[in-house]
Amino acid sequence: MNCFKCKGNLEEKNVNYMVDLEETIIIIKGVPAKVCTQCGEQYFDDETSENIEKIVDQLKELSTEVSIVNYKENVA
Ligand SMILES: [Zn+2]
Repeated sequence: MNCFKCKGNLEEKNVNYMVDLEETIIIIKGVPAKVCTQCGEQYFDDETSENIEKIVDQLKELSTEVSIVNYKENVA
């Protein structure tokens, strides 16, 4: 599999995923992703994307300005 944008090589990495929801900013650390070595584009597989969605759904209920969580600790 290569980068859809620039056809560069992808390498598996843990990245920090950030969502800006205006009211709150959520940072999920250590998310497994494939990252393009050329342009830095990040790709998540279906399972990871679902987990990210679940974590974001849970955290946006909290009215904290910034939430920082660890991916692995939030995936059962
Ligand atoms: Zn690329």
